[in-house]
Amino acid sequence: MRQSKLFTKTRKEAPADEVSKNAELLIRGGFIHKEMAGVYMYLPLGLKVLNKIEQIIREEVNSVGAQEISMTALQNPDLWKKSNRWDDSIVDNWFKTKLKNDAELGLGFSHEEPLVNMLKNFISSYKDLPISVYQFQNKFRNELRAKSGILRGREFLMKDMYSFHTSTKDFDAFYEKMKLVYKKIFERAGIGHLTYLTFASGGVFSKYSHEFQTLTSAGEDTIYIDEATSVAVNQEVYTDEVLQNLGLDKEKLVERKAIEVGNIFDLKSRFSEPFDLSFTDENGEKHIILMGCYGIGVGRLMGTVVEALSDDKGIIWPESIAPFKVHLLSLGESEAVKNEADKVYETLLSSNVEVIFDDRSGMSAGEKFADADLIGMPYRAVVSERSIKEGGVELKKRNEEKGKVVSLEELLKILSI
Ligand code: ATP
Ligand code: MG
Repeated sequence: MRQSKLFTKTRKEAPADEVSKNAELLIRGGFIHKEMAGVYMYLPLGLKVLNKIEQIIREEVNSVGAQEISMTALQNPDLWKKSNRWDDSIVDNWFKTKLKNDAELGLGFSHEEPLVNMLKNFISSYKDLPISVYQFQNKFRNELRAKSGILRGREFLMKDMYSFHTSTKDFDAFYEKMKLVYKKIFERAGIGHLTYLTFASGGVFSKYSHEFQTLTSAGEDTIYIDEATSVAVNQEVYTDEVLQNLGLDKEKLVERKAIEVGNIFDLKSRFSEPFDLSFTDENGEKHIILMGCYGIGVGRLMGTVVEALSDDKGIIWPESIAPFKVHLLSLGESEAVKNEADKVYETLLSSNVEVIFDDRSGMSAGEKFADADLIGMPYRAVVSERSIKEGGVELKKRNEEKGKVVSLEELLKILSI
């Protein structure tokens, strides 16, 4: 991509009403546009990041046999009345709307009800189980506070997945597998080293749920970490009894701020019961199906990476989710530099290296460097009079102080790994 053709521009200041670091940097870099509080558009660079995170999640959940679908945003109140989640006194963050004939509709904040209802058409026997189903979809939540940028949106992209089982034993085994799948996802997204499996409240139906909490000062949660085992406990269940139960020593726990990037939950028969989602076993006996659910905030994960991996100059994208692997800069207006930079760009493109090329004229080196630091590609490659004289392109990683001049062949070798 030639930066001269990219319609977004970087900016020095974020909107005055934006207080979160993730939104400030992402807006300044042209990744997102703020529509209103808690509502953001994803622009070309931002959408690339979101899509890459989505693809990592897709690959990892596909590996346990989950099947992708796409449900609807519009929700039929009758289904939610069955499970007693339509009433605003039960669920306080519904967005609701009306049909022309005044009938009410909801905008989905989650999707257990329509999924369970749909599956009744397909599941009746033990032979139909286990299954797991997921989707990527924008959720709508009338959040009270929306000051955390894309960490807490009123419309946001979620991966929600649900699993269905004949027995607790089968559910438990799958749930353990999902812990590993989640660990892998956060590792691949570049925040594995900052993310902790955290015991949290299980609601009324289960003893605990598990959250995946990433350390950042922007986090809304307080967690207590046991460094030795990499396990943490959310403040909401942090009691002497729980610690004893989990075999954790209070003295060894460290208190930290963190953000929940994902969670996994034992739903038992909370939703299968009201919909009578059941199966018949080998003997023709009927049983209720057991469920689990597994969420990840895709946009929140992106915002978390920005919060956790940036410096005072801008974002530092992990290679796996960066919009482009390398930011190629052409410095100066001379024909020699322009021709050489063009050649480097074409060579990278034809080797399938993801490259954004700052080919803009009329900008100082300082301005181009500042932009490269702000938008944070993992590598920066500079073509200038000097780099040409020294035999090539000056290459440095985003988080390195100084680069070194390498030949075009070496550049290709380093970047095509
Ligand atoms: P939180 O505790 O942060 O309010 P939650 O427990 O209500 O979130 P779930 O309903 O389980 O979250 O949603 C699954 C995932 O979706 C969460 O783990 C989080 O990553 C993400 N998420 C939840 N609410 C938001 C939001 N308002 N904006 C962006 N992502 C969100
Ligand atoms: Mg939560």
